[in-house]
Amino acid sequence: MTLLETHGLTAFYGDFQALFGIDLAVAEGETIAIIGANGAGKTTFLRSLTGLLRNDRAALVFDGRQIGDARADAVVEMGIAMVPEGRKLFPSLSVEENLLIGAHAGRKGSWDLARIYDLFPVLQERRRSPGTALSGGQQQMVAIGRALMSNPRLLLCDEISLGLAPTIIRDIYDSLPQVTKAGCTLMVVEQDINQAMAVADRIYCFQEGRVTLEGRPADLSREQIRQAYFGV
Ligand code: ATP
Repeated sequence: MTLLETHGLTAFYGDFQALFGIDLAVAEGETIAIIGANGAGKTTFLRSLTGLLRNDRAALVFDGRQIGDARADAVVEMGIAMVPEGRKLFPSLSVEENLLIGAHAGRKGSWDLARIYDLFPVLQERRRSPGTALSGGQQQMVAIGRALMSNPRLLLCDEISLGLAPTIIRDIYDSLPQVTKAGCTLMVVEQDINQAMAVADRIYCFQEGRVTLEGRPADLSREQIRQAYFGV
């Protein structure tokens, strides 16, 4: 079943056009990686999916419903959650409070505190610590847990490996199959091409606001990716 489709999706910041007609389709249960250089429009695309940037109604179809003009809170209720770039935790709140905020909007489902602590046991140990007292990797786990608390059908992750040590990145990526096994479709924006190729069923490469390549990692050559990424 197709969970998400975009049709000619565009995005503007004032007069500046950041996306030029993105057509993409994601099946339920897939893991998609979006790759591309700085400024290619990856974050803008995720923000367009979450209602933070509005579109024409028909530009975005989720579970058969046209939602391109839906508000961000309505989008969370429908089952799209985002782990934002830079984690954006509430610094004065504890780990547990940050997680509970994620449950405030969203759907009913099986993700709760106990399951998040099962996924990331270190968060249970640190549950009373403020967000700022955590390591970068632990903060990233809280950001993922907070998004999962809304029981999303589609989880969007923006550069979750940015600034983290390789072993921590591996721990976090190793946890993601538990998320997809629970029935959640995953879309990750990732600057590390090797990481993207390892985790994704399919990748989309963005360049200057357009999709320049799409396919299964095994079907794409390094040369194709280099061209799609850098445009040389
Ligand atoms: P990065 O890896 O740096 O996050 P990206 O692929 O996610 O890059 P975007 O952040 O989506 O790219 O940016 C796409 C384009 O839109 C860039 O040219 C960027 O300068 C511009 N842009 C992004 N946010 C804004 C904003 N709030 N106002 C104006 N222009 C913006």
